[in-house]
Amino acid sequence: MSGLFSAAYLRQIGWDVDIYERSREPLVGRGAGITTHPELLEALESCGAGTRDLGVEVEKRVTINQAGCVIGEKSLRQILTSWDRLQYLLQQNVPAEHYHLGCAFERVEQDGSGVRVHFADGLSESADILIGGDGIRSGVRAQVAPDVQPIYAGYYIWRGAPNEADLAPETLQSIFPYFTFFLPECQQVIGYPIAGLNNELAPGRRRYNLIWYRVGDADVLKNMCVDEAGHQHYYSVPPPLIRKALVAEMRADAAKIMPPVFLDALNKIAHPFFTPIYDFTSPSFVFGRTVLVGDAASSARPHMGFGVAKAGGDALALAQALRDHDDIDAALTQYDAARMPIGNRIVLHGRKLGTHLGVNLKTEEDRKMWELLQDYRAMMDWIAVPNFLAA
Ligand SMILES: Cc1cc2nc3c(=O)[nH]c(=O)nc-3n(C[C@H](O)[C@H](O)[C@H](O)COP(=O)(O)OP(=O)(O)OC[C@H]3O[C@@H](n4cnc5c(N)ncnc54)[C@H](O)[C@@H]3O)c2cc1C
Repeated sequence: MSGLFSAAYLRQIGWDVDIYERSREPLVGRGAGITTHPELLEALESCGAGTRDLGVEVEKRVTINQAGCVIGEKSLRQILTSWDRLQYLLQQNVPAEHYHLGCAFERVEQDGSGVRVHFADGLSESADILIGGDGIRSGVRAQVAPDVQPIYAGYYIWRGAPNEADLAPETLQSIFPYFTFFLPECQQVIGYPIAGLNNELAPGRRRYNLIWYRVGDADVLKNMCVDEAGHQHYYSVPPPLIRKALVAEMRADAAKIMPPVFLDALNKIAHPFFTPIYDFTSPSFVFGRTVLVGDAASSARPHMGFGVAKAGGDALALAQALRDHDDIDAALTQYDAARMPIGNRIVLHGRKLGTHLGVNLKTEEDRKMWELLQDYRAMMDWIAVPNFLAA
């Protein structure tokens, strides 16, 4: 997303931009739900990608108890979309001849006035700037700032997106149309409707994005990261390789605590997968002529659902700085000064919301925030809402 946003904004000010994507296949049918905010919608419009058929609109949030009864409501219109819909809209906005699949970044050389970038298949290219928009495990960042590492939050999520058509009538009626919370102690279950495969928005053809936050320390995570063949992974396990016994254990745990409607949605996910939650901010977003944007530069815990809007904001700030300065290095200094503090602020806010899960509450402020968020009304006010921008 951040690479595509960068290409769009830079092309608007007359730069030549090429995108090199590691995946050999088009990035369709991937990723799960994405909450949108006005900041993201504005970024999509201003970069030229637009917001057509973006997703499913919900009118309110509800919180349910273990019996499935609604215990709280809050009116909040939001469009829920998916990673692949956003990726599609952004990619359509870049000429096909400048978008190169199957090009995995390997290393960059820089001499103060430009970069030479080498890719895994032997291709290399020269440019004025390299923009690393290659996500939280950025290979670009690993070269220019190897000490900057994502930090495990002490919790992870199970997730998946069952088809609307597979859900029970009770599930469709009670939770499917809304942004729904179930909040047992030290856990969060959140669900909302998203488009179906191929961005199907018609009733009956959509999907339900289900997320279950659970606490697990580094040892628990390490054990979860052993795959079906006994191979140890380090950050997470590709969904098809997740141990069947782990999935069965998760389903058994869910049966003990989840309201029947959420359990129905979970049971309809054919291949649930887990994502450990990490965050970090790079102390600088600029290393010579190599620039970091999006999750490569800083990545917050996903409680605000602001990552893609942040990616768009980084890209816009970079283009504005390059527009405003004849000197590229001065422009990059301005970009760094403008975006690094914002990235950090978003990360800190994510940690604040993460206190709900009760992990590593170190300060009095953490404990107060934890206490505040034990009230489901506060969770409906704060989760997936960019209200921290006003602070
Ligand atoms: C559980 C969860 C829920 C989230 N929910 C939301 C939400 O509701 N709303 C929201 O806005 N954000 C959400 N986010 C965050 C959002 O997904 C990210 O912030 C966003 O995808 C970051 O975009 P990016 O382009 O920086 O990185 P990515 O989307 O990770 O893209 C990086 C790209 O770089 C490519 N790449 C990687 N390595 C290489 C290489 N060596 N060479 C070439 N290409 C490479 C990858 O294939 C990929 O296409 C969520 C994140 C998580 C984990």
